[in-house]
Amino acid sequence: MSEQPRSVARVITPQPVMEGAGVRLKRSIATPALDYVDPFLLFDHFGSDDPDDYMAGFPWHPHRGIETVTYMLEGEVDHRDSIGNAGAIGAGDVQWMTAGGGIMHEEMPRRGADGRMGGFQLWVNLPAELKLSHPRYQDVSAAQIPVVQRNDGTVIRVVAGEVDGVGGAVTEIYAEPEYLDVSLPAGAHFAQPVPSGHSALAYAFEGEGRFGVGCDLGYRGDLDGVQLAAPQMAVFGDGDEVRVEADSAPVRFLLVSGKPLGEPIARYGPFVMNTREELQIALRDLQNDTFVWRDDPEWAGKRRTWSPDTWER
Ligand code: MN
Repeated sequence: MSEQPRSVARVITPQPVMEGAGVRLKRSIATPALDYVDPFLLFDHFGSDDPDDYMAGFPWHPHRGIETVTYMLEGEVDHRDSIGNAGAIGAGDVQWMTAGGGIMHEEMPRRGADGRMGGFQLWVNLPAELKLSHPRYQDVSAAQIPVVQRNDGTVIRVVAGEVDGVGGAVTEIYAEPEYLDVSLPAGAHFAQPVPSGHSALAYAFEGEGRFGVGCDLGYRGDLDGVQLAAPQMAVFGDGDEVRVEADSAPVRFLLVSGKPLGEPIARYGPFVMNTREELQIALRDLQNDTFVWRDDPEWAGKRRTWSPDTWER
């Protein structure tokens, strides 16, 4: 049986956004141009050599109804939360945080020894049945993320999903996500099965390459794919395989896919529920001090440092 390659349905050039207490970042999902790619609700790329672009960070703020996924390339993010977790997400580490019914947390970027800081945050929606579940963390260190090295020089870090029979570090997520960090050397070809019906996107963050290769749609050069130059995102149409080729330059990209929920989306800043009434309940819970599972006594009083008109994530 032949595979059905996925073509590029949309190319997104990230928009500059100021978030948190004053962090400059590049946003590709959750913008006027692209609200969401079910089940993915937000995608931010942050990184700078200038600490003034990020030092203010993301002081204590709430989340409900979603998962936030932080993957660091350089530097680190110091974090604390209302269920008692605290630590640093370092270069190559992933934190897959399931906010469920309510969490308060703080995310503060710091530069590494080389002076650099960079990474990504993805929001994954939760289905109605899990939107009020107990919060959960999967903290995965760089050393725990399997690395697939192919003979052609391709290197794939398997955060979630499966490549060449190698399973990813993050498991048991409702959306059945795939999250790969793929480095293709010049001249290399890449093909990855992605279940038909799942949403899929690629975010090129170093170099350039052709995405959606091999799709004979008859009206444009889709056999050659669509050229992306970092930083750019491709949102794929349906099919069961994603193909990428690097020509004279290498390319490094994230490949992210997951099962759409197909549920109504009501979003307000850091809360994503199914209805507007549920958003109002979230705000009321915040006001009434009934928002989070307060496993950590240290969190008391922190909610008052955030208000709905300050920031989102
Ligand atoms: Mn957050």
